[in-house]
Amino acid sequence: MSSKYSSSSGTNSQGPSDPKSLFCYGCNKEKPIHSFSKTQQTKAKSNIHNPYVPGGKTRKKHHTMCKQCTPQQNNSLTCMLCTRTKPLEDFAKAQRKNAEKARCSKCMEKRRKADENISDTPE
Ligand SMILES: [Zn+2]
Ligand SMILES: [Zn+2]
Repeated sequence: MSSKYSSSSGTNSQGPSDPKSLFCYGCNKEKPIHSFSKTQQTKAKSNIHNPYVPGGKTRKKHHTMCKQCTPQQNNSLTCMLCTRTKPLEDFAKAQRKNAEKARCSKCMEKRRKADENISDTPE
């Protein structure tokens, strides 16, 4: 018995499949995925599962909006933790570079405080 596995090129459907369309709360209708910016796509996916949030799920549902409905985000970034769009000055320089995974100063501070509580090293 020879079981052949075609390991050559082919559509390998592995991992979670990305949605082909998303609902825009601006237009109030479903639109193809390419109508949404990466930020919005990430948001939409985190509606289902957010690996960055403890527990893997966000309680809040994001209201995704297509490119047409979202203003150009030159002066603001969306924090991946609190998912709020905030002005650039609320983000550290290092975070601005990584716009898709940016965390605002507030969330950074929160995390830092949490770390301090845990790593209480007695000398
Ligand atoms: Zn729209
Ligand atoms: Zn934040």
